[in-house]
Amino acid sequence: MSNVEWQELGKQIHACQKCKLAKSKKILGEGSISSDIVLVGESPGEQEEKTGKLFVGKSGELLTDILTIVGISRKDIYITNIVKCHPPNNEVTTDSALSCQSWLFKELEIIKPKIIIPLGAFATSFFIKDMSKISDVRGKWIQCGDYKVIPTFHPAYVLHGGGPMAKDHIISDFLKVRSELMGINDKVKAIKIKSKLLNDTILVGEGGVSLSELWSNLKQQ
Ligand code: URA
Repeated sequence: MSNVEWQELGKQIHACQKCKLAKSKKILGEGSISSDIVLVGESPGEQEEKTGKLFVGKSGELLTDILTIVGISRKDIYITNIVKCHPPNNEVTTDSALSCQSWLFKELEIIKPKIIIPLGAFATSFFIKDMSKISDVRGKWIQCGDYKVIPTFHPAYVLHGGGPMAKDHIISDFLKVRSELMGINDKVKAIKIKSKLLNDTILVGEGGVSLSELWSNLKQQ
């Protein structure tokens, strides 16, 4: 990956005039551009537009909380959105999404992640064209070209009607990502997981249960 290429892409996104949101502030992806993992959300909200940072509102706090629980640091991954501008009333139009998707594909071409985690049905539909419901594909590994894609619920779903288990489902999906990363990098730190599904707090990693043990427990719930 070249920094020049990356900076050039940033300039092009800032200058984007492709859809009706052309005059809006562009909020670029953030985090590590050499990461194996890319998280893809829908579009920036009001807070993100104000601060110029991604996932800083209530869903963002929840996302950070989930990542902390599974021992993944936000600075070690790359987070972006399908649409780079905050749409009025958070309603993303097909026109904006289709115009903006080329920026996402350029980001992915430069970063070349191993794992992509689309958050929610909207982002997932950009990777899995024949998806009918997010709950059918959530937590499943799907090969998309060079990328391993594992969709999960959007954190906003936990906050708006997803029910008490939605957060645990996202946690278990991220645990699968950690297990996969263990194959890539075997330095696994012990982490404490508090799970409603397991109704317990348990130590995962060195000195505790293995992630695969935990995962098979979660699968049986
Ligand atoms: N929701 C998203 O999908 N993206 C953000 O950046 C914030 C909230």
